[in-house]
Amino acid sequence: MNSQKFVVLIDADRCKGCGLCIEFCPRNCLELVRDLNRLGYHPVKFKAAEKCIGCQACTIMCPEAAIELFRRRVVRPEGDKA
Ligand code: SF4
Ligand code: SF4
Repeated sequence: MNSQKFVVLIDADRCKGCGLCIEFCPRNCLELVRDLNRLGYHPVKFKAAEKCIGCQACTIMCPEAAIELFRRRVVRPEGDKA
């Protein structure tokens, strides 16, 4: 079973690699990657989904609005009361 509750989507081609989201993430879920994006920056990736608490600090801090946060919804099959 997947225990991940939140999904952070990063538009790598909007990211300018400023690192603000990394600095303000309280759970160290984000990191810069080695590859360059189309703007020539090292973009951020969501590396530790299982640690994310959905605090939105990354989305609020990003000056490029490159980050979106979603809550994962668990859909159980009909009749499954677990
Ligand atoms: S929502 Fe919070 S915990 Fe999750 S990646 Fe963003 S800053 Fe980190
Ligand atoms: S705050 Fe936004 S622009 Fe800066 S590194 Fe994070 S995703 Fe990229």
